Amino acid sequence: LFARDITFMRGAVDLETLPPFGLPELAFAGRSNVGKSSLINALCGRSTVARTSNTPGRTQELNFFDVNSRLILVDMPGYGFASAPKDKVDAWTRLIKGFLRGRPTLRRCILLVDSRHGIKDNDREMMDMLDKAAVVYQVVLTKIDKLNLAEIEAVRERTLAEISKRVAAYPHLILTSSEKGVGIPELRAEILQLANP
Ligand code: GDP
Repeated sequence: LFARDITFMRGAVDLETLPPFGLPELAFAGRSNVGKSSLINALCGRSTVARTSNTPGRTQELNFFDVNSRLILVDMPGYGFASAPKDKVDAWTRLIKGFLRGRPTLRRCILLVDSRHGIKDNDREMMDMLDKAAVVYQVVLTKIDKLNLAEIEAVRERTLAEISKRVAAYPHLILTSSEKGVGIPELRAEILQLANP
């Protein structure tokens, strides 16, 4: 499925420009700099699918990619810029809430959390939105190559304890490093099940 035919479909800046419903969709969300682009590129076996989004001023848009005409991958705009102006944050929240609530083809969300930081308040806000919209989500820790084993165990326990209280979260955690290729096959296998129901 991956690394075969991934094409950019469109970027949506508002609810009016979302593509029509079609294939099952899988969305990727997380704080800016969490490693979302790196993970999407690692999953797809390419370095050019998702652009890194390190610029705070960058347009907040949902990017839709067709994966081999089997699945739509949705790259959600990163959140959590300390310096983001209020109107930008409000626009982001409107777009994300509207998307999550009005998208019957959205099968799952992959919520990325930086293993060095663990779950932060803006991740909790994202989880609140997903819980309310009843969108099932899989929490994935990123950049575990930056931690030692004791630190990995500590963040794993903390994160599991928190997601076990959530309505729509999978009670299962995937630990990844895009840099070292850790957890990528596991995540890919999970995603494949969505494309082969
Ligand atoms: P995005 O803003 O969420 O799309 O994050 P990026 O994929 O652009 O990554 C943000 C920064 O984290 C970049 O400097 C990446 O090189 C770095 N990064 C991403 N994934 C990993 C990883 O698995 N391990 C390490 N050590 N660094 C990573």
